Order: sequence, then structure tokens, then C-alpha cells
Amino acid sequence: MLAECSPVILVINCGSSTLKYQLYTTDLKVVTAKGLISKIGEDGSRVEHAAHGSKHVRVMPVPDHHTAFTAMIDRLIDPEVGVIKDISEVTAVGHRAVHGADTFVKSSVINDEVIAKLEECVPLAPLHNPPNLVGIVEARKLLPDVPQVVVFDTAFHQTMPEYAHVYALPYELYSEHRIRRYGFHGTSCRFVNQRAADMLGRPVDELKMVICHLGNGVTIDAIENGRSVDTSIGFATFSGVMMGTRSGDVDPGLIFYLNKQLGMSLGDIEAMLYKRSGLLGVSGISNDMREVEERAEGGCERCELALEMFAYMTRKYIGSYAAALGGLDALVFTAGIGENSPSMRARICEKLGFLGIAIDSDANEAPGDDGRISTRASRTAAMVVPTDEEKMIAIDTLRLTEKARAAAA
Ligand code: ADP
Repeated sequence: MLAECSPVILVINCGSSTLKYQLYTTDLKVVTAKGLISKIGEDGSRVEHAAHGSKHVRVMPVPDHHTAFTAMIDRLIDPEVGVIKDISEVTAVGHRAVHGADTFVKSSVINDEVIAKLEECVPLAPLHNPPNLVGIVEARKLLPDVPQVVVFDTAFHQTMPEYAHVYALPYELYSEHRIRRYGFHGTSCRFVNQRAADMLGRPVDELKMVICHLGNGVTIDAIENGRSVDTSIGFATFSGVMMGTRSGDVDPGLIFYLNKQLGMSLGDIEAMLYKRSGLLGVSGISNDMREVEERAEGGCERCELALEMFAYMTRKYIGSYAAALGGLDALVFTAGIGENSPSMRARICEKLGFLGIAIDSDANEAPGDDGRISTRASRTAAMVVPTDEEKMIAIDTLRLTEKARAAAA
């Protein structure tokens, strides 16, 4: 059963053991198929594919990324579960890449030079960039004649002024080794910034906005006139607000203490800060906000503490970014927690009346189409805006490939 409209843009998010994909129609209005291939190279690999309103799951060996890409294409062109007759119907591919360093200030059409520059960024994101690159190489092998675009999580934050992105360390670390604040979740923040402006009916280049991307990873972003001017995650992916399993801001002095006094190795400390801290570390129960909220409700004191800390750290960033921006027009919540937890939004906004934010508790429980959760009288708008990183990648892919085609014509 094939779809009537021709889907042409394939969006790829390739991780070390996962491959996520979505297929968009040219007008970017419809996602005709999406899938997740997980546990690549491990036991129990799974291929999930959703199209025509139903989901198909198969557990099958997927020993490497090449097999994963082949499995994806098999499903996309399958006469039953597929949405295209032939892979040649895909006219552009968009890839997510985590780290573009200071080399990539915006999305780019992929060529050999872009790949070489992306390889130079690997030391800055050794866990994330290599699988992103594998995805690009595989997609180019399977679709050699199709233009491909890469969209970077860091690129949106490249507009931060020097005083916001340079650390107060010896300057050579910045000038010679590129050690600085980069920020992440930029693709989400860019999408939400534009969408929030549209929902407010105001031009994006006239707004001071703080975006709270609250998911498993957390980014608080200060945006002035559509440009990111400060962001809570820094050089690696630890800093800012506590996350599902990551600590967020801690005094770097504790690393030396843990190493020298408690005998922990650097590897142990890194694993602890990355995998055993945050909501999980404090609650001792879970990295999942839903579970921590449920257990706090049931009387778990450490879960309650984790929630208080999460709200407090977020509120401190909102306050400091409102000061950095010199005012605030809109406070926007997005991602899993930001979009779905009214109680966490209420906790965070509790003391923000001084910023002109007054929450409407009914609207906060069930935000309407305009996303507003603040009262009509609230001087500053508070909103919930669902993020869509894949759509942002598809938008960039369409824009850049059309531009390249027009230039070649
Ligand atoms: P990722 O960073 O992996 O993309 P998500 O944006 O999907 O993460 O967010 C995952 C987080 O959202 C988890 O902590 C999850 O518990 C939380 N979440 C999802 N739905 C709800 C909900 N209804 N209430 C509270 N938290 C929720």
C-alpha cells in the first residue's frame, strides 16, 4: 500500500548503537514514515518502523550500521509497510551532527571538505561525532547521487559573544585548543524560538526569550532577536541544570578531592558525573522525571529533594539569563519534561513574579493552541512549545538543497 504523496526528504539521526529516521513530504507537512533501529552491534537488535498508522517491530541481527541502513531502506520501499516504490524517490537527506565546533556556524551541504572538517571536530565530541559521521558515510554510499545536508546541535550557539563563550582560564586554551563554551540542543532551541515567535504573532528579531529545553538532557538558552547569546551547557555536556543522570554545575574542585582524597580514578569520576548523578543520583530511584514525580508524591523525600533542586537550578538560570538579556518577553518550556510536566513548570515559575510572569494554573495544566500558560495580564508570556528537531533538520535540508539546485541551474 503506497502513499499518494511523494515523500522526498529523509532525516537521519545516527548514534553509536541507534539509527533514527523520518521521511517527510516536500511541503514538510507530513511525516510518512519513521523508524528506530536500536542495539546496533549488540544482542537483541530491534527494527521499529511506523507508517500508514501502524507500527512494525522486528527483532533481527543488525551487526553494524551498514546493515541498519539497508534494513531502513528495505522497510521504506517494502510493498506492504513502505511508503515509496524506489529509493530514488528520496531527493535529499538531512543528518544530525552533535558537534560542529567553531568551524560550522550553520547547516552545510555535505561534500568531501565538510566531511574532513567534521572529522577534525571528533576530539571535541568523541562519543557523538563518530557515529554521526558513520551515518553520513553510509547514506552517501547508498544514495550517492542524492544531495545531503548536515545540521549541527552547536551551530545555533555560535552567535554567543566572546564574553559569554570564553572561560576564565589561560587564554591560550581558547585560542590554541578551542576550549570554550559551545552549547548543545541548538537545533531544538532554534526551532522553538521561531515557533514561539510565530505563536506570539511577533517577529523573532524583536524578542528576548529564555528557552528551557527540559528533557533527559537540559539546556537553558538566552536568545535575543533570534540569536543565542548564552546557554547553560558548556564545553562538554555536563554543565548547567542537573539532568537525568548528569550532575549539571558542580565546583571543579570536587574532581580533585574525589581523586586525591577518595581515590577515585578520572574514569570513575567521569562515569559518576555522566551516568550516576542528576535526578538518578539524588533520588536514588530513577533518571525518569515521571517516576521521580510519582515517588515524591508517595512520600519519597529524596525524590522531593531532586524535584526541588531541578526547579531551583532551572529558576536560577532563568533569572541570570533575564539579567543577561536586560529583560524578558517570553519564557518557553519544551522537550519531555518542559512539555509534559505542569507541576515542574509551576515549581520553576513559583518565584518569577518579579520578572512579570504570572502563571494561569488551568492553562498550565492544559496549554491551548497558543501555548500560553501565563495569565492575559502577565507582562511576560510563559509558554509551552513542542520541539521538533527532525523538522528543523528537514527545513534546513530542503532550503539548502533547493538553493544548491538553483545555483547549479
Ligand atoms: P531526550 O533528551 O532523551 O530527547 P525527552 O525530551 O524525551 O528526552 O525527555 C525525557 C524526559 O521527559 C524524562 O525524564 C521523562 O520522564 C520526561 N517526561 C515525559 N513525559 C512526562 C510527563 N508526562 N510528566 C513528567 N515528565 C515527563
